[in-house]
Amino acid sequence: MAKSTFESPKGTRDILPGEADRQRALVNAFGEVARRAGYGHVMTPMFEDIGVFKRLGDSTDVVTKEMYDFHDKKGRHLALRPELTAAVVRAFVQHRPAIPWKVWYEGPQFRYERPQAGRYRQFSQIGVEALGTDDPAVDAEIIALAWNFYKQLGLQQVTLLLNSLGDPTCRPAYLEALTTYLNENLDGLSEQSQYTLQVNALRVLDSKREEDQAIIDQAPVMVDFLSPETGEHFAGVRRVLDRLDIPYEISPRLVRGLDYYTRTTFEFASTALPGSQNALGGGGRYDALAADLGGPDTPGMGFALGVDRILIACDEEGVFGAPDSLVDVFIIDATGGDEAAVVGAELQAAGIATDRAYDARSMRAQFKVADKSGAPIAIVIGDDELAAGQVQIRTLQGETREQISIARSTLIEELKKRMT
Ligand code: AMP
Repeated sequence: MAKSTFESPKGTRDILPGEADRQRALVNAFGEVARRAGYGHVMTPMFEDIGVFKRLGDSTDVVTKEMYDFHDKKGRHLALRPELTAAVVRAFVQHRPAIPWKVWYEGPQFRYERPQAGRYRQFSQIGVEALGTDDPAVDAEIIALAWNFYKQLGLQQVTLLLNSLGDPTCRPAYLEALTTYLNENLDGLSEQSQYTLQVNALRVLDSKREEDQAIIDQAPVMVDFLSPETGEHFAGVRRVLDRLDIPYEISPRLVRGLDYYTRTTFEFASTALPGSQNALGGGGRYDALAADLGGPDTPGMGFALGVDRILIACDEEGVFGAPDSLVDVFIIDATGGDEAAVVGAELQAAGIATDRAYDARSMRAQFKVADKSGAPIAIVIGDDELAAGQVQIRTLQGETREQISIARSTLIEELKKRMT
């Protein structure tokens, strides 16, 4: 194929029909799962005041390296959203809805990352947030929601990693122990981690650098420092997950890439994918974020799942494929094309998805297009059928092929019988 003058920017991609329809189906399925659990849909702008996202943490890659920020024509400093939690909490603080406020969202996020398989500069997330309660039941409900969604898609090879990052009553003592330990082992740490340690010791645990791993593996863990209340909260989350038969692994060094997390923190990894792209989503509690954004002290909990990654995992596991066809019926009209317009409109009004060929092509040429469309059924209208008030139904896919003429007045009824 000739190279076009312009291509999609580095790290972005065009998602074409078929794959984009599959992505839409996934988002719709997620929206339905969330709706059934009492979450309403929320839509916030693609860009925000950069201050909203600065809350993700001064030492996080997302803030220091990956933000798409710009000044608008009036000099406002804005950023394309790199994630949605901070934006949703900003909306909560602005509108002060009744609590608990349970919402779900979907849409593109933007991060200036080094593109690689499963890592893009524009990618899509689905997620939920619940603000206004710190009941461990909501933590478990939210984790279960993601878990059940993966199961609904057919994914089997998903692992849930769970941790508690403590709260302001117990985290300082842990941070002190961690900082002391890391300082004692400073020489063994990578240069980047030595720097990170100056800003935020917890972030060092998130280092993926080979040379840091042995030191990280021996580092003190937050779960040993939890206060009785925080420990009880974490036990409450685990108890409900156990009751729901949701398996998890305690991952005591899981900190995740954003700084706002407190208490429950979790991540889903696919064992079907290589380590560099196996993170399917994650989230946790962010009890200080609303106050940090100028709102009332309001606990919050949520997750974001990577749509692109989930679909890669689905490919790997051979589940939730792209639809074979976008339509139920292909209309072949050998009488000139007007009948296809009329029958198509009738069928679409009855909820039957149709397509057709154009340009008054030969019957043979139209059959070729019909086959390519993947539609399971064709209806054929020739001059004889038109004169007799009939249409032919032909199956195009599958083992048993049928070819019968029926009265046009019974077409919708006959098609619906074959579509169930
Ligand atoms: P995060 O918002 O960093 O917690 O990420 C949540 C999920 O979004 C990850 O587990 C990935 O599945 C997905 N994700 C994050 N960054 C990217 C990216 N650059 N490209 C594709 N997916 C991503």
